[in-house]
Amino acid sequence: MHRITVVGGGFAGLTAAITAAEAGAKVTVYEAHHTLGGRARTAEGPYRTNEGPHALYSGGPHWTWLRQRDLIGPPAPIPPLEAARLRLRHRGALRRTPPFSMLKLLRRTAQQAPVDVDFLSWASGVAGEEGARAAAHYSAVALFHHDPGGLSAAFVQERLRRATKVPPEAHCPRGGWGGVVDRMAARAWNMGVRMETLSRVDTLPTGTPVVVATSLDAARRLLRDDSLTWPSGRTVLVDLAVRARRGDAFAVSDLDAPGWLERFTARDRSLAPAGEQLIQGQIPIGPRESKADGVARAEELLDLAFEGWRERVTWRREAVANGRTGAVDLPGTSWRDRPAVDRGDGVYLAGDQVAAPGVLSEVSFNSALTAVSLALGRKELDLKHA
Ligand SMILES: Cc1cc2nc3c(=O)[nH]c(=O)nc-3n(C[C@H](O)[C@H](O)[C@H](O)COP(=O)(O)OP(=O)(O)OC[C@H]3O[C@@H](n4cnc5c(N)ncnc54)[C@H](O)[C@@H]3O)c2cc1C
Repeated sequence: MHRITVVGGGFAGLTAAITAAEAGAKVTVYEAHHTLGGRARTAEGPYRTNEGPHALYSGGPHWTWLRQRDLIGPPAPIPPLEAARLRLRHRGALRRTPPFSMLKLLRRTAQQAPVDVDFLSWASGVAGEEGARAAAHYSAVALFHHDPGGLSAAFVQERLRRATKVPPEAHCPRGGWGGVVDRMAARAWNMGVRMETLSRVDTLPTGTPVVVATSLDAARRLLRDDSLTWPSGRTVLVDLAVRARRGDAFAVSDLDAPGWLERFTARDRSLAPAGEQLIQGQIPIGPRESKADGVARAEELLDLAFEGWRERVTWRREAVANGRTGAVDLPGTSWRDRPAVDRGDGVYLAGDQVAAPGVLSEVSFNSALTAVSLALGRKELDLKHA
C-alpha cells in the first residue's frame, strides 16, 4: 500500500488527501492550525464571513468533483429579484448595464487574447479604451489585483469571461465554504485519512512522498527554496452587517477602479441574524496605497448603493489580504511558468500559486490532483489541463 504525507489541511490538502485515499493510499495530513480549511474557513458566530473564497465556479473541475461526492451541500441561488439589483459604477454614477463598448470583449474567448501583451493594450484594440478599462476593472472580482489592465491579456480575458457568464457560474454554498470543508474533512476521515491538527511541520517528512499543500510563502520557508515566488493581489476587505432596508443593491461592481461589494445575505439569509444583512467588500490596492485608501473607496461605493448604511451598521471588520488571493500572471507568463508541482525527491507542491490552470481555488484543486497522481505514479488521476 502507498503512503503519502500531506502538509496543510486547506482546500488543496483536503483534495489531495481524499484523492490519494480514494486511490488506496494511506494518508496522513498535518495542519498547523487547530481547524482544517485554511483560507476556506467560515467564521463561527452570528456573522458567517468567509475568510477567503465565496464563489464556487460551476465551470471549474472542482465543481464536478465535489458534486460527484455530494460535498457541495445545499445551494444558495440568487432570487431573480435580487439578481436584478446588480449595479455598476461607471463615471461616478450607478447604472444597471455595462458600457456598450465593454460588451464587445465578452464575445472574445481567452484563447483569442495574447499571453504576451497586457490586457489594456489588447482590449483597447478590440473595444476602445473606455470599454477595455471597464472590463479590466470588472474582472477584478475574480483576480483581486489593483491593475488588472497591466496583467497578461489571456489571463484577464479568461476571468472576465467566467465572471460575466449568463446564467452566472459563481455559486455560493449555503452557510459559506466552511460547510464544504466540513464535508470534505468527514469524507477524508471516513476513508481512514489520519488528520493531525495543531501540527506545524518545520522539517520535510521523509520516508513517504510529500504533498506540500501550504501557501507558496509557507512552502518557500519549508523547502528553503527562495525561487518559490509568484505575484498575487493585495486587497482590502470590509465586512459589514447593517439593519435590513428594502431596495439595497445585491452587488456593486466598480468599473471606474477595481472593487466589488456584495450583500451575501441576498442569497443566503443564514449568514447574519434576522433583520440584518451581511455585506462584504473587496477593494484591491496598489503597492503605494494604504488600508485606509481601500476602506475609503469601499465607503464611496457603499454611499452610492446602500442608502443610510452608516446609521444602520451593527458590526464591522476590516482587513488586508496580501498575497492570499491566488496567482496573477504578468504579460509573457502563464500558469505553466509558475513554480512546478514536482520538486524532485518525492516532494510535490499543491496550492493556488503553482503551475496548474484554473481560476482562484481551482488552481489549488488542479495542482492537488496532479501532485497526488505524480506521487502515486498514477497518470489516470491527472486532469486534462487546458
Ligand atoms: C479574500 C479572498 C477571497 C477569495 N475568493 C475566492 C473565490 O470567490 N473563489 C475561489 O475559488 N477562491 C477564492 N479565493 C482563493 C481561495 O481562498 C484559495 O485559493 C484557497 O482557499 C487556497 O487553498 P489552499 O489549500 O491552496 O491554501 P490554504 O487555504 O492557505 O491552506 C494551506 C494550509 O496549510 C497550513 N499550513 C501552512 N504551513 C504549514 C506547516 N508548516 N505545517 C502544517 N500546516 C501548514 C495552513 O494553516 C493552511 O490551513 C479567495 C481568497 C481570499 C483571500
